[in-house]
Amino acid sequence: KSVTQWLQDHGQPREWQERFWNIIALAILNDSPEHTSAEIFKRALKAMFHGKRENSSLAFPLTSLSQLLRMPAENYVRQHGGTILTHSAVERIDSIYDVQKGDSHPERFIITTADGRRITARAIICALPHRQALQVLRSSNLSENISLLLQQMETLRDSSIINVHLWFNKVFTQLPFAAIIGRNFQWIFNTRMIRTKDSHTPTHLTLVMSGANSFIHLPKEHLLHVALQDLHAVLPESRTASLLHYLVIKERTATIALRPGVDALRPGPETPVHGLFLAGDWTATGLPATIEGAVRSGKQAAALAIRLLSGEHS
Ligand SMILES: Cc1cc2nc3c(=O)[nH]c(=O)nc-3n(C[C@H](O)[C@H](O)[C@H](O)COP(=O)(O)OP(=O)(O)OC[C@H]3O[C@@H](n4cnc5c(N)ncnc54)[C@H](O)[C@@H]3O)c2cc1C
Repeated sequence: KSVTQWLQDHGQPREWQERFWNIIALAILNDSPEHTSAEIFKRALKAMFHGKRENSSLAFPLTSLSQLLRMPAENYVRQHGGTILTHSAVERIDSIYDVQKGDSHPERFIITTADGRRITARAIICALPHRQALQVLRSSNLSENISLLLQQMETLRDSSIINVHLWFNKVFTQLPFAAIIGRNFQWIFNTRMIRTKDSHTPTHLTLVMSGANSFIHLPKEHLLHVALQDLHAVLPESRTASLLHYLVIKERTATIALRPGVDALRPGPETPVHGLFLAGDWTATGLPATIEGAVRSGKQAAALAIRLLSGEHS
């Protein structure tokens, strides 16, 4: 069932859908409520409103996501004896079997990277985005049993996000952020004010469009025009400001499309290849394709890999 069908079943008038539900559903599920899963939406609402109060709070990063999330994670891995290779994309993973033992499980894996490295591992967590994971697994020599998983992954579709950053020569709003109803972009964030608590010039606004598949192919100049039209419609004072600079960021494959029934297509952490695990926001987390889902799946995959390796040692 789609989010729209579910809302209709519960007697939510069209106006409430347009002015309240749709804006929340689009932000959470990154696609139109007519095409997204009511089940996943319900789970997200439950997680937000049936738990602790802070579960439903809005959080704005005050620094870049790299500083907030990536760097502490990298430090943690290094401090615990791990190694991180960057600019070293995985091209393929080959499973090696001990023919003499006649084992049906791979004894080890060899990972080949684009810069020519060959890394040996007993267990692997493939935490690549959905498209890249599919490409790497297709190029790999693993096991025939993996073909069903690949077919399942091929059926997953993408949903886009477009961000348009605008810098103006004057201040014309004191709103930290606002939802836009009935236009093309759905949110305006007063990025400079949120990050620096400073509402002086230049004003830096970010307009966000989730579920942007029908706009993603448009030229950047056209998207700028659409963003300015939406901004002028909701904040007419913006017409009096001069645009100093702009940046359009298109994320074509921002998340998987969470269509009704998609739960059955998202693979879990275990694969048909013993020792190869999957993680990522697109896997069967039960949640929308979010950071929280990615973390949850990473923890599950790590627990399974640790169990496998500690079983081998004992
Ligand atoms: C514009 C935008 C806004 C978003 N806003 C939010 C939000 O407000 N809240 C929220 O919770 N989520 C948000 N998301 C979604 C969030 O970014 C993802 O859910 C999250 O990053 C998924 O984490 P992940 O670890 O599964 O994948 P990723 O973060 O995509 O990490 C996968 C990693 O694999 C690497 N990689 C790719 N190919 C290879 C290869 N061949 N070899 C080695 N490494 C490779 C990539 O470089 C990347 O570092 C947003 C996404 C976008 C695009």
